[in-house]
Amino acid sequence: MAMAPSLRFRSRMGRGKRQGQEAPRRPRRGGAPIIELDDVTKVYPGGHLALERVSLAINRGEFAFLVGPTGCGKSTLIKLLIRELAPTEGEVRVAGRDIGSLPEKKIPQLRRNIGTVFQDFKLLPNRTVYDNVAYALQVIGASRTEIREKVPETLRLVGLSTKLHNYPDQLSGGEQQRVSIARAFVNHPPLLLADEPSGNLDPVTSIGIMQLLYRINRTGTTVLVVTHDREMVDKMQRRVIELFEGRVVRDEVTGGYTEESTTEFGVRMRGEMGVGVEGQTNGHEAGER
Ligand code: ADP
Ligand code: MG
Repeated sequence: MAMAPSLRFRSRMGRGKRQGQEAPRRPRRGGAPIIELDDVTKVYPGGHLALERVSLAINRGEFAFLVGPTGCGKSTLIKLLIRELAPTEGEVRVAGRDIGSLPEKKIPQLRRNIGTVFQDFKLLPNRTVYDNVAYALQVIGASRTEIREKVPETLRLVGLSTKLHNYPDQLSGGEQQRVSIARAFVNHPPLLLADEPSGNLDPVTSIGIMQLLYRINRTGTTVLVVTHDREMVDKMQRRVIELFEGRVVRDEVTGGYTEESTTEFGVRMRGEMGVGVEGQTNGHEAGER
């Protein structure tokens, strides 16, 4: 199965760091960063300061968490990355491109390269699992052959091969989130953003969702996950960027970062969090490395 992320952003990626610009703090995976915020401030109409002089860089292939208390600016940062909002000051670059000044007509192209997952799934209630995922390809003009190939392949990856014809209200919360992850990933975007993807889910189901996001990361896609779940973040031993009142107050890897397979990851996480095996997440190892 072809799991390489879309290369469409590559042409924009070759640019080295600009003169006088600081090197990204954590260039673990090499290559140019896929996300860069340079002294970004966001003031909402009405004057609320949501982000204040935020600078960070996330490299291609990284898995990073964005954490912090409610209201600290996490969702604002995500919205800046998909140009749902523009920064008040500073520059937001995705794949080397300043997206704050992107013309309206280029925004759909940006969003095609960024998969998004939200706490409330945002599935179409009157469409089946299959159609919810297929729709994401239809809107970008994919061929029927491509849709027929990619949709089942992606639903297999997320462990939902047996639920293709179910409607969202016939699924558990964890399954619905898997559909929304499949929809976000079916186009193999180089970047996946998840804003509190396990916010409505129980701990066991949440581990399954994190394991799935990790599996997607291991195909080469950069993954940025907003979460409240401190225990999960501490146990995952990945990069953590913490916001507090709109500022970055921490950017580090908790514990020792370990390279591990998706299966090793799942076993370790369940062990450390003291929960049993969730049946849904086993036996869907396509695309693993
Ligand atoms: P988080 O996702 O970390 O909970 P948000 O990024 O949603 O935080 O919000 C950051 C701050 O900006 C909060 O104080 C919130 O009330 C405020 N805020 C968010 N959206 C808007 C908006 N559209 N207009 C005014 N203030 C907003
Ligand atoms: Mg939020």
